[in-house]
This record gives sequence, C-alpha cells and structure tokens, in this order.
Amino acid sequence: PQAARSYATATSPKDSTKTGAESAPTTKLYIHGEFIESQADKWYEVRDPATQELVTRVPQATPAELAEAAKSSKAAFEEWRKTSPVTRQRKMLDFQAIIRDRTDEIAANIVREQGKTFADAKGDVFRGLQVVEHACAIPTLQMGEILPVSTDMETYSFREPLGVTAGIAPFNFPAMIPLWMFPMANATGNTMLFKPSERDPGAAMMLIKMYEEVGIPKGIVNVVHGGVDTVNFLCDEPSVKAISFVGSDRAGQYIYARGNANGKRVQSNMGAKNHGVVVPDANKNHTLNQLVGAAFGAAGQRCMALSTAVFVGESQEWIPELVERATKLNVGHGMDPKADVGPMISPQALDRAKRLIQSGVDEGAELLLDGRNIVVQGFEKGNFLGPTILSGVKPSMECYKEEIFAPVLVILKADTLDQAIELINANPYGNGTAIFTTSGAIARKFQNEIDVGQVGINVPIPVPLPMFSFTGSRGSMWGDLNFYGKAGVQFYTKLKTVTSLWRAEDATTTQAAVTMPT
Ligand code: NAD
Repeated sequence: PQAARSYATATSPKDSTKTGAESAPTTKLYIHGEFIESQADKWYEVRDPATQELVTRVPQATPAELAEAAKSSKAAFEEWRKTSPVTRQRKMLDFQAIIRDRTDEIAANIVREQGKTFADAKGDVFRGLQVVEHACAIPTLQMGEILPVSTDMETYSFREPLGVTAGIAPFNFPAMIPLWMFPMANATGNTMLFKPSERDPGAAMMLIKMYEEVGIPKGIVNVVHGGVDTVNFLCDEPSVKAISFVGSDRAGQYIYARGNANGKRVQSNMGAKNHGVVVPDANKNHTLNQLVGAAFGAAGQRCMALSTAVFVGESQEWIPELVERATKLNVGHGMDPKADVGPMISPQALDRAKRLIQSGVDEGAELLLDGRNIVVQGFEKGNFLGPTILSGVKPSMECYKEEIFAPVLVILKADTLDQAIELINANPYGNGTAIFTTSGAIARKFQNEIDVGQVGINVPIPVPLPMFSFTGSRGSMWGDLNFYGKAGVQFYTKLKTVTSLWRAEDATTTQAAVTMPT
C-alpha cells in the first residue's frame, strides 16, 4: 500500500516526547492561531490500526493551556459576533473549496490513524464537506422573522450567537464529525473550543490548518486535546454556553448531565443498534447487497451501521445467500484498493468484539460466519476482524443488547412485520433503521409505526443531507436540537425579539396606561 502521510501539524523531528525507535511527532494544541507544543505530562499514543506503528502522541492539555484556550475563545467572540453573516459565508465558501482540493490528503491520514479504506475515508470527508457547503447558506439560514402587529408597531426576531461553544468528537469519523461542529458554530457567529478524539486527531488538525489558510481569525476555533480532564473542563467552564457531543453512551450521558447541571445547552448523539428489516416481497439482490455493505463497511464502526438484520417470514430463506456475499468481502489494509473491510480502531476494541461474538455462541446463537481468525498478509499485527454473522439471536442475548461496533451482523427472525416493529420499538436506541420491501403500503406502515429517528426505505444508511438534520432519537440522542440543518442553526443561536413602536403623530393623552399592553 502507498504510504499515507502522517499529519501531526507543524512538527519537526525533535518534536517527539520520547526518543528511540518509538519516537513520533507530537500533535499540537491550536490556541489563538498558533500550533503549540503542550507542556503535558500525560500523552495518548495513536497507533496505525493496521501495523501498530506509533503515528503521533496526543497531549492531555494542562489546566493552564485549557484556560488559555478558553480566554482566547472568549476574546475572539467579542469581534467575531460583530461580523456580518455574509463575511462568515465567504469564509465557509473558501473553506469548502480547500477541503475539496485536498480531500485525498485528509483521507490518507484517516486510513493511517483510523484504518478505514481509502474510498470510505473520502466519503468521510465528503459527508463533512456537505455540512460546510450547507453552512455557506448561513445568511439565509440565520434569518429572523418579522410581523407588523399593528399599524405602527412590529415585532422582529434575530437568531444571535451564544458565545463560546464546545465540540467533543469520537474516533469513527475523524473528518465528518468535526465538520458537523466548528463550521456550524462559527458560521452562526460563535467561537468554539474543539476537542477531537484523542485516538485519531490528525484529520481534524489538517482541517484546522486549512481553516487557518483561508484566513479564519485567531481564536475563532481553539483545539484542546485530551481525555476526560479536557471534557470536564469544557463541561464546567462558565464561558462555554453549549456543548455538541458525539460518541458513546457512557461519555454522552455523563456530558449531558454535567453540562446541563452547569446551565449549558447540550446535544448528545450516542450509541446505536440499527435494525434492517427484510420482508419477503423485497428485491432480493438489492437487499442482500445493501445489508452486507451497511453491516460490514467501515468495519462496522459507523453509528448508522446496520448491525442487526430482522428477516420476516419466507425471507429467512435468503440467509445462506447473505452469508455467501459476506464471505466474498476482502479484508485488508485501507490503502489496498481491493480491501472492503479495514482494521478496527484498537486491539481493545477487537478483543471486546471477539468476546461479544463468543457470548452469542455461548448463549445459543448460530455462528454462520466467523471472522475471528483472519490474518492479513503483511499486516499480521493489525486489528483485523473478518465479517462475522450470528443467526438465531434473541433479544435477551448480550450480543443483541450491546452495540458491538465491529464487522459483526446479528440476525433475528420474525414471523410478521408487526413482530419486527415491536422488537425495534422495544430497543432503547433510536438512531436509524431500514426496511426492504417493494410494497408502498408496507413501507408506509413501517414509517408510521416505527419509533426511530432516521428511517430508510430500501436505503440502508439513511443519514439525510445537511439541509435536513441528523435525527437520531430516544437512547441515541439526548437534547432537543439536532445536528446541522435548521435544528443545528437553532442549537447554536438564541432568539431575540424586538417590538417597536413608531407613530406618525404624537400622543394626544397625558394619562399613562397601567394595564398589560394587548
Ligand atoms: P467515546 O465516547 O469513547 O469518545 C467520544 C469522546 O468522548 C472523545 O472525545 C473522548 O475523549 C470522550 N470521552 C470518552 N470517554 C469519556 C468519559 N468517560 N467521560 C468523558 N468523556 C469521554 O466514543 P468513541 O468510541 O470515540 O466513538 C464511538 C461511539 O460513538 C459509538 O458508540 C458510536 O455509536 C457513537 N457515535 C454516534 C454517532 C451518532 O451520531 N449518534 C456518530 C458517531 C459515533
């Protein structure tokens, strides 16, 4: 595979925090327009998931560095809030252009740090780029309303920025999810303290460098690395008014509670268990291809992966063919053009997935395809798991209850569509679901009765384009304002209304009115 460039921004050979064979460039903080070497004494290692080579070390920013970043965000807001929406629009236009030009460079870094295939990594960048393109419409998106409430009186509303905001990102979309966050926050006039995943911050750092290249003023976005200490700082810092989080349930529920307790607005997009329902009238070829792609693509490490299939009635006869198609997928290094499935993020994630597969077997599920012993030649140390399929899974089994977040598909069987709907509605998550059918009436019934935020009809990963919002629900999303789209603009703004009276003639009475104006 061609070598992907490692990108720990603004590095030099002596940047390493350690010397010897395991030296690697460090990832910098980005504070007030400068890439800064942290004074941290705690560092996270980022290792190439296909080789275990050390790519970079990521600091746990010190309290002083975090305070400095917050100070910068606060000061920058005072100027940035005064910029006109068309000025901010122009920055977004420049930013989307540079991302388009340099997509391959960002994607190569994603392969190196996160592992997904190069083609899929380009999709990661592209889906984020679409949010930046959407942010280019900010003058229209942020418009207020006006109503003449009497002949000489009107009320009008503004959507004003909140101030300093915070973004906390997961590992699985190193470009897309950062691009859900700081461009929307900045386009609406806020500044952002942004924390990439400490497991693969490289793509975010490249995007920040490009942001700087298009002339974004200092302090509009500050990058603060780290783990729980940085998260706690963001939840407690008084100048932070809103927190946008994407990641696991454990972190998301914690951040939601801690942020809310401190009076902040929080949107928390969390885990998922997305079900694909197959009814017997579906187009078999389309359905099986889509199921296999959505279960195993990105090594199953997508919050919208179809990790659970529910075969209704006679469609259960297609299961052997599904297994056959999954067997044909190539597992390999992300830069190998033939690879369909890359490595998982870490040895720990791989071990956990293997343990959950075994728990399924132990609890009575049938292991139709076992990817646990796969070895990728030349990458024997990689965190590879081949496509794995467990059938006859029951809702009580651990492999059903847990989000496995790996190339593992669990199959359940239902006699009727009503049973399938009941099963999905009983699951605590509500991120996404899909039905495969050729019947409009069945699709409509499913759409109406299913309690899941993002529904696909013959579409396996129904993430809407950014003019809509990302609408996971129930256990997958806490908070009432979704990511991007109109709801995203609302999340990053507060409403102000002005009611004004301009009379053509002077008042004729000297009597003050003391009753409530109506
Ligand atoms: P994660 O929760 O481990 O990490 C996310 C962020 O939270 C990171 O920046 C991390 O530093 C921080 N964090 C981790 N543990 C923490 C803790 N105990 N307290 C405070 N902060 C903590 O998530 P991940 O493993 O990087 O991402 C995978 C998860 O994200 C999966 O559950 C997946 O479904 C979910 N996800 C959801 C969506 C969505 O839109 N609903 C999208 C992508 C990923």
